[in-house]
Amino acid sequence: MDTTLTDEIKRLTSLGLHHRCVEGDLARVAGLTLEINRLKKEKKAVICAHVYQTPDIILGIGDLVGDSYKLADDCRKTAADIIVFCGVHFMAETAKILNPSKKVYVPSKNAGCSLSEAITGGDVRKLKAEHPGLPVVTYINTSAEVKAESDCIVTSANAEKILRKMYEKHDKVIFVPDRFMGLNLAKALGKTPGKDIFLWKGACIVHEHFNPGLIKVYKKKYPGLVALAHAECPSELIDAVDFMGGTGDMMRYVENTNASAYLLVTECGFGELAKLKFPEKNFIAMCRLCPYMKSITLGSVLALLKDPAPEEVTVPAAIADRAKRSIDKMFELAA
Ligand code: SF4
Repeated sequence: MDTTLTDEIKRLTSLGLHHRCVEGDLARVAGLTLEINRLKKEKKAVICAHVYQTPDIILGIGDLVGDSYKLADDCRKTAADIIVFCGVHFMAETAKILNPSKKVYVPSKNAGCSLSEAITGGDVRKLKAEHPGLPVVTYINTSAEVKAESDCIVTSANAEKILRKMYEKHDKVIFVPDRFMGLNLAKALGKTPGKDIFLWKGACIVHEHFNPGLIKVYKKKYPGLVALAHAECPSELIDAVDFMGGTGDMMRYVENTNASAYLLVTECGFGELAKLKFPEKNFIAMCRLCPYMKSITLGSVLALLKDPAPEEVTVPAAIADRAKRSIDKMFELAA
């Protein structure tokens, strides 16, 4: 084995990645991360990695790591010529809207999102016609076309804060596309769906299927356990947990508390990362895989860096300009 590969294996081991590799597999992973990091430098590319990616991507090759809000914010500030987005397509579109002069790529043709696919720009136009004059507040998990029809974008990290600000100026709002997040936010804000908040029917295929009954079972089995759930989960589940938020909020909660165990109700990549970041803490698995997020692998990132052209993300200028206004509104209100 050459020295460079040995050093890379040592680096990945120091990051804790050997825990998730079977014997021999770490050398294969190290060969891939080594080559990706070399090509990344050569092409002046930056790799964004969402927290639902696998740890070999997040820790092995990721430069900018975080939830949707952090990645969108970080992308505004990068000096790199090329953005390789290890996340789903709507996130890469957001990066492109914020960086029109940069090349943005997603290393998978299958990195969609059930929420993003649940609504079109035409659907939003219909909602606006049904509820004239109401502002459209849109979860970031949507296409550029939907963002272009919206007044303000939110992420799970800032949705409650931004909606509170919107309600200072408006009696009613339209919130799309996640109906569960909409119901959870309505409850938190004391608003009535169908009266002062109008929702759409979208759902995340990962978070909509968690079983609320299991929270009680785990809490009984592990006394002192703290359950944290993503805001895309149904309300019956949110009622059973100790904390609801986005992944950034959940990670901060784990970091700043000292429970005997944590139950993380969200995509599995997040729990894997939490275990690596806080090896001294106990985590109970209750997670589901997102097939869209998991369609990206080290192999697909390497293939993209070798031949990026087929996976370039583009957004027509007229749509990008209008979408950017609603994204900028989010940065303004979330500040
Ligand atoms: S976890 Fe859900 S919201 Fe996130 S990308 Fe997958 S399907 Fe979309």
